[in-house]
Amino acid sequence: MTDRSEKQTLEYKGRVGEERRLKAKVAIVTGGASGIGEATARVFAEQGARMVVLADIQDELGNQVAASIGTQRCTYIHCDVADEEQVQNLVQSTVDAYGQVDIMFSNAGILSPSQQTVPELDMSQLDRLFAVNVRGMAACVKHAARAMLEGRVRGSIVCTASVGGSHGGPNATDYIMSKHAVLGLMRSASVQLAEHGIRVNCVSPNGLATPLTCKQRGMSEEEGQEVYRKYARLQGVVLTPKHVADAVLFLVSDDSAFVTALDLRVDGGFTLPSISISNSILL
Ligand code: NAD
Repeated sequence: MTDRSEKQTLEYKGRVGEERRLKAKVAIVTGGASGIGEATARVFAEQGARMVVLADIQDELGNQVAASIGTQRCTYIHCDVADEEQVQNLVQSTVDAYGQVDIMFSNAGILSPSQQTVPELDMSQLDRLFAVNVRGMAACVKHAARAMLEGRVRGSIVCTASVGGSHGGPNATDYIMSKHAVLGLMRSASVQLAEHGIRVNCVSPNGLATPLTCKQRGMSEEEGQEVYRKYARLQGVVLTPKHVADAVLFLVSDDSAFVTALDLRVDGGFTLPSISISNSILL
């Protein structure tokens, strides 16, 4: 008969005999207070990360998420990724407190409030979006890379891009431009850091219901899921933040030890170019 504390330990370790995949790793998750970042932080902690540092601008929510994961394995720090000094402080304080940075999940991102079609582009909204989605992403990769190089850590960096990073779209022009830039950042960083054993990859989700998309369109999570289900190619499963988190887990764990410069699309085949039925008759 196991007592309560023993049972909790068994539950925490997962299935009997299963090796946790991030044993003793120190991870930073930007945009960790919500959506994909929150789900990924939970997966990292479940998989044995020694410490998960959540970085976000939503302080109350970030602290709540950290507390719900457990303050021994997760902590919150305010960091606006658009401000390089705050990013530098995030990375430095993590190294000071926990010795090193093994994983950087650079995930914080925003959408502009208006449609941002090309003829109606609001340039000040575009500037703000680029400050977060491009400049912020670059600052996170830069300072994580520096810490890994200085600490001689063969770390893993993952950036959240999007299916919009490799396609055009009817609106959200600035967002789509920014996600193309994230892919360029990841590709350059992966080339430059490979000789040091540091891997850099992207995860590119299809549209999914998170506060980012639901608040923007005034939808509940259920309504959002229904909208994205209709647009999806793969049927029978609705994309959730946990699906994206599991893909990120693959990219930061030793399961992908020889994988770098990959844009891992979690899109149910959505971005695969395909011919229409009428064209296929011609083949
Ligand atoms: P979300 O809004 O739930 O989470 C984003 C988090 O980033 C929020 O907690 C927000 O406070 C934080 N954030 C925003 N600006 C920040 C800043 N300047 N500094 C630090 N943190 C900041 O949205 P999400 O859908 O989980 O988005 C996460 C990432 O996934 C984004 O990069 C987004 O572009 C990308 N993405 C989302 C979708 C989708 O459909 N939801 C699809 C593809 C890619």
